[in-house]
Amino acid sequence: MNMTVHAATTTNHFINLENEYGAHNYHPLPVVLDKGKGVNVWDVEGKKYYDFLSGYSAINQGHCHPKIIAALLEQAQKLTLTSRAFHSDKLGEYEKFITAYFGYDKVLPMNTGVEAVETAMKLSRKWAYEVKGIPENKAKIIVCNNNFHGRTLGVISYSTDPTSTKNFGPFLPGFENIPFNDVEALEKAFQDKNVAAFLFEPIQGEAGVVVPDDGYYGKVRKLCTQYNVLMIADEIQTGLCRTGHLLAICSEGVKADILILGKALGGGVLPVSAVLCNNEIMMTIKTGEHGSTYGGNPLACVVAVAALSVLKDENMAANANVMGELFRQGLQKIDSPFIKTIRGKGLLNAIVIKHENKDAAWNLCMEMKRNGLLAKPTHGDKIRFAPPLLITETEVAHAVTIIQQSLHILA
Ligand code: PLP
Repeated sequence: MNMTVHAATTTNHFINLENEYGAHNYHPLPVVLDKGKGVNVWDVEGKKYYDFLSGYSAINQGHCHPKIIAALLEQAQKLTLTSRAFHSDKLGEYEKFITAYFGYDKVLPMNTGVEAVETAMKLSRKWAYEVKGIPENKAKIIVCNNNFHGRTLGVISYSTDPTSTKNFGPFLPGFENIPFNDVEALEKAFQDKNVAAFLFEPIQGEAGVVVPDDGYYGKVRKLCTQYNVLMIADEIQTGLCRTGHLLAICSEGVKADILILGKALGGGVLPVSAVLCNNEIMMTIKTGEHGSTYGGNPLACVVAVAALSVLKDENMAANANVMGELFRQGLQKIDSPFIKTIRGKGLLNAIVIKHENKDAAWNLCMEMKRNGLLAKPTHGDKIRFAPPLLITETEVAHAVTIIQQSLHILA
């Protein structure tokens, strides 16, 4: 009995359980967490860390935000799921709230991010056939190289990352890839009359926080309007104050035709995603043509309202802007030969590591873990830094010191 209790408290025990009984579709850092509060998480051995991943930007509001948890608990004791076979007293209120918040006629609620991307793809095809007048089965969606929009077969059909696609074919037709941040290529692609939509991430997160040139969003908007092509912004990672604005494209005062949200819409508590657009697009989908059992459930609705309210009430966009600036300045001052690039906006940042050892980024993340900061490499040599948006100046300075000290491991 004692042996079991002892083993259950060790990091290896929990890692071994996952390795033995779970699919090996992730390669986590060897840390086992059992508590989170604000910008911090704790492992099962009681060690405290800064969380500089924030659940891939799903925990913008901080771990276990008291207002979000209170909303969750109150609703969980009352009504959690109706399915869409029946109405609930929470769905309409949430729909009114989120459409006013982002300025669209309607919302279609889903759960995970990738489901919302699939929904946007379906909506744009419907609109293409029923409003734009593209001949049946000819609609094309333009996407970017190095995109990441999730993991379904539909979405990986236009991934350019072999890790996402190898041995998963055959893929869905109807997509054309162009380089990211290339307005000329976009206009060239728009010469095809059968283009329904342009789907893009305002900043390519998974690709390593690739920020486009200033003015890109405005030029995309202009071209989409000119060629009657839907602009679909996947703000699942960049949205909800992460980049120092409510949405990344708001930095240029641009509004997408279809807005996709996820991650922090559920406040780090539940999978909640949403697709927002105006009636001309949304009303092309009719009864029975799309849906999800859990989409728009009352628990998700109250959590999402709380998650969105917290972002505004606590000025998280402004804080992300100021803290992000301080963080990048701090990194620049480190002046390490192992940092090739520092880039990002607000609190969505990354460094690119320069080192002959291909495991250098991983080794640095392991050293940062030892020193009390959790981050994860992406695509080998890049490390994303995306803490919860309520981080303070003192905490940013402390985190920069940890990163600086940890870089010694690469010498
Ligand atoms: N779109 C973007 C831009 C993302 O970053 C992600 C996830 O990282 C997704 C879509 C997929 O979201 P989910 O993992 O919730 O399906």
